[in-house]
Amino acid sequence: SQKLAQARAEGKPTFSFEFFPPKTAQGVQNLYDRMDRMHSFGPQFVDLTWGAGGRLAQLTCEMVKVAQSVYGLETCMHLTCTDMEKSKLDNALRDAHQSGCTNILALRGDPPREKEKWEATAGGFRYAKDLVKYIRDRYGNHFDIGIAGYPEGCEDNDDVDLLLDHLKEKVDAGATFIVTQMFYDADLFIDWVKRVRAKGIDIPIIPGIMPIHTHAAFIRRATWTKCNIPPHWTAALEPIKNDDVEVREVGKVLVAELCRKLIDAGILHLHFYTMNLAQATRMVLEELDLLPDMNSPLEKPLPWRPSLGLN
Ligand code: FAD
Repeated sequence: SQKLAQARAEGKPTFSFEFFPPKTAQGVQNLYDRMDRMHSFGPQFVDLTWGAGGRLAQLTCEMVKVAQSVYGLETCMHLTCTDMEKSKLDNALRDAHQSGCTNILALRGDPPREKEKWEATAGGFRYAKDLVKYIRDRYGNHFDIGIAGYPEGCEDNDDVDLLLDHLKEKVDAGATFIVTQMFYDADLFIDWVKRVRAKGIDIPIIPGIMPIHTHAAFIRRATWTKCNIPPHWTAALEPIKNDDVEVREVGKVLVAELCRKLIDAGILHLHFYTMNLAQATRMVLEELDLLPDMNSPLEKPLPWRPSLGLN
């Protein structure tokens, strides 16, 4: 941990990984194995997304517990308002608390699969800011509370200015860090960070980075999140789109170039959407020279606090 502290003092960036609860028992076991392996990359913390609905929600809580207590990983549990009356929220927060988790990403949530539009559950909350306030009221400062930020608009709202007002409300409700939707345009992101700061929001902003696994997945996710793809990315990836190995090689260079621009702009923490896969994320970290020396004994990540000066 001395090495990590030194790295941070030298302005060397830190990073974290997001995982989601898999649908099958075999998938869960595979993910535990992968999390164990990726622990050796030295993430500051890992996120586990909230799978709305009975079994998946339970699995998020279970995986937080295992990651935290068995694998010794600092965790951040996502929690959404979708289909969650207060008693269910209470149970999830109690489980997280008992597992030793001290970070919650408070979200409104996506609509359930069968519904097109998001609707509030009776006895639950309408907006993420309501959940932030609820957690703050019930648990004081036990949890660091994260919120989602959208540099290019979100699914049901593409008015970035209005979203900034809503972001400010979430911060005023007690949030302590922001994790953003994925993006591929560094300049656009850096400009958005300036607009966030101009709103008087001074909590850490953590950029969401999506490594490129395959061309089809890259296009699918960019389309889904409506994020801008810089023209030189399209020019580099389109001609090789049927060669997965080549796409990962070129994608690694492009994503690392994006990360370098962020680091140069003073953003010193990178959050990787791993999609539960190790390879593409590892390749980007290698390209950035951020992987620890694999021959030296494993270092435990520092207990993560956003106040450690991420940016
Ligand atoms: P909010 O900030 O509550 O906003 C929801 C909508 O309400 C927006 O359109 C907003 O503009 C509007 N709004 C907010 N406040 C007001 C107000 N005062 N008046 C009028 N309108 C208002 N989904 C999952 O299901 N599980 C996950 O684990 C998950 N993890 C995510 C992680 C990250 C980093 C991100 C960026 C998203 C994640 N999502 C997840 C998706 C997220 O739940 C959806 O994008 C959801 O549609 C919005 O959630 P939010 O927390 O941003 O909502």
